[in-house]
Amino acid sequence: MKRYLSLYVHIPFCAVKCKYCDFLSFDGESYATMLRYVDSLCQEIKLYKPVSEDYVVRTIFIGGGTPSLLDENLITNIMAFIKRTFKVRNDAEIIIEANPGTLRHQKLLGYKTAGINRISIGLQSADDDILKRLGRIHNYDQFVASYNAARRAGFDNINIDIMSGLPGQSIHSYVDTLSRVLDYEPEHISAYSLQIEEGTPFANNQEILEMLPPELIDRQMYDITKRLLAAKGYDRYEFSNYSKPGYECKHNMVYWTGGEYLGLGLGASSYFQGKRFNNVSCIPEYISIMEAAGEKIAETDNIEFLYNETMRKLRQNVTPIYIDSRMEEFMFLGLRMTCGVSREDFEERFKKDIFEVYAPVLNKYISEGYMAMEGDRIYLTDKGIDVSNVILADFLLD
Ligand code: SF4
Repeated sequence: MKRYLSLYVHIPFCAVKCKYCDFLSFDGESYATMLRYVDSLCQEIKLYKPVSEDYVVRTIFIGGGTPSLLDENLITNIMAFIKRTFKVRNDAEIIIEANPGTLRHQKLLGYKTAGINRISIGLQSADDDILKRLGRIHNYDQFVASYNAARRAGFDNINIDIMSGLPGQSIHSYVDTLSRVLDYEPEHISAYSLQIEEGTPFANNQEILEMLPPELIDRQMYDITKRLLAAKGYDRYEFSNYSKPGYECKHNMVYWTGGEYLGLGLGASSYFQGKRFNNVSCIPEYISIMEAAGEKIAETDNIEFLYNETMRKLRQNVTPIYIDSRMEEFMFLGLRMTCGVSREDFEERFKKDIFEVYAPVLNKYISEGYMAMEGDRIYLTDKGIDVSNVILADFLLD
């Protein structure tokens, strides 16, 4: 029987690098480099032919970076290679991340024709001063234009990303962003709190660091998000993700439930055939590995050999996943979802009852009201979510 697989496709280009961003993305790359990168990506997809027969793809996430920087024909090309190589379910969720300011009607129609059925738009804030401070390339009006263009092009599944805890952000400004977003009735809202990451321009900018709202205010923003979105019919199904019923992000659910996924493109991470690994993270190196494979593919019938040889060069940090780390991940990731983890699922995967492994920690947190158990499900309560870092760390096995 075929196994389910999800694909993550990484597009590592941005128009301008945001000042808080530590994702693997680069600004200022030439169009020629983007073209060579997309060719290389298609090459990588093609090389999976020898193993693709065992799988059926149920979700695809084209992320970055700013995938919407790419013209529709390049996205169409990538999707065509995926569909030629893998069996993709007719009802697969196929997502593209987009930045306001990079979307136009024609492009959106092209994405739709290529099979994309969900758009995730990064707004972050409706306050233009804050957007400028973050180094975003767009203002609020450009977001509105992009959102409306996506609706006009027929997208009926849209996520909007917003952020709290931003420099100079007051509760009033945050609530204003939330209300404006709610006016548009997107199917899904992701609301993350800004984390200052080492090596980003923000990390070394004292003025910015002093403008960050205190933790208590950030916590209030989180509570307001929960209340306001619940009142408007959004279900908080994960710590930071809210959806209208039936519009949960299926791709992210695969990550949180320990499903198998393959990362394609620069630096992309995979959990595939019992191993974790990530691709090389230097653009010239990635392109040269793939171009070398591309030249050989024309000369060989032995694509299986070429696949193995190329993957040895491409993949880094290949780590087999042992049972203990699989159990830890099952708990860490599963408990991020408000529905928590399934006791039966745990037993099916690990041939042990969850209490056989985790009785002391589960009994402690359940009796103290940080966790709860209802039927088959064990989950963090609201009180538990507030201190989730501490609780989740207790699920590490010695
Ligand atoms: S658009 Fe996204 S990926 Fe690109 S720099 Fe900004 S935050 Fe990072």
